[in-house]
Amino acid sequence: MATSYAGAVRNGTMAASRLHRQVEQKALIELRGGNVDVFGAIHALDLPLLLRPLDGLLGAFIRDPVPGVLITTLRPMPIQRFTAAHELGHYYLQHQPSLDDETILRRMAATSAPAADYQEIEADAFAIGFMMPLWLIVWHCERQGWTAENLAKPGTAYQLALRLGASYKATCLTLGRHNLLPFQRVQDLLKTEPKQVKSALLVSYQPRDYRGDVWLLTERDANTRIDGSRNDLFVLRLAEHSGGGYLWNIDQLRASGFAVVGDAIEDIDGEGVGGPVMRRVTAANLEAGRGTIQLDERRPWDPDEPLARLAVDYDFTGPEEIGLSRAERRILLEAA
Ligand SMILES: [Zn+2]
Repeated sequence: MATSYAGAVRNGTMAASRLHRQVEQKALIELRGGNVDVFGAIHALDLPLLLRPLDGLLGAFIRDPVPGVLITTLRPMPIQRFTAAHELGHYYLQHQPSLDDETILRRMAATSAPAADYQEIEADAFAIGFMMPLWLIVWHCERQGWTAENLAKPGTAYQLALRLGASYKATCLTLGRHNLLPFQRVQDLLKTEPKQVKSALLVSYQPRDYRGDVWLLTERDANTRIDGSRNDLFVLRLAEHSGGGYLWNIDQLRASGFAVVGDAIEDIDGEGVGGPVMRRVTAANLEAGRGTIQLDERRPWDPDEPLARLAVDYDFTGPEEIGLSRAERRILLEAA
């Protein structure tokens, strides 16, 4: 156990990167994108997990009769994932039992000197290092072409948060921790509520509520993996060569169980007549599930190879519910 704040942060962070290597998460993500599979890691370590509606608690780590973790089913997926990573940290660092409430979220945002509960500081640093390591942020930034200047914009920080499977707030604070953004930039980001970002992305479409996330998908997301929740929406923004007769076939979206709730052409300034336009399609998830979104850009009358193709693997089955975790279900299904 650490005896200083800096020591606790170091211990937690180093343990997280040890576990990444142990469960080979880094290699997997570099191959197919996505986020760190926290529940998959719990399963890989054979650590017993219970998902239950917990009253007043986000999660807990117990040691008797055997080590195990409890995670609430009553919170959105990013909070479940952060809590699970925190409890996994208690286990991996061989901590004492811990009952964890909202304090784990508040502690992350604290700007004053933290209390000297080094076990909790270690577990927090583990959770941040495991879910939001610098290499993962850099991977997504390289893939998306995001610079530090972009990350200082709420819309970009929000899209990064979705791809990390973390909350907007946790992501902004982590950008500060990794020194990717200065303190004041992080504070500025935190003034924006995710709801504002979602509403701006949806333009005129108004969902029943703003609890679901809104993914902005472009050709930069081709052949990656996105991991969301049942009530998520997505906005596809794709260059379309309609001057040459090529159109994105959005019927493929409908066939995969998505409702198209918006379809518009955006102006691209500076392009002559006949140049590509920007097609903007907004879709809602009708039948929660997993699969591949595949869209082809082709001439409707032409059976030839499409001009372009976007394929994105998705899992919109979050958040975790009572019973087996989604990672456990997936592994059982794959083994069947
Ligand atoms: Zn704890």
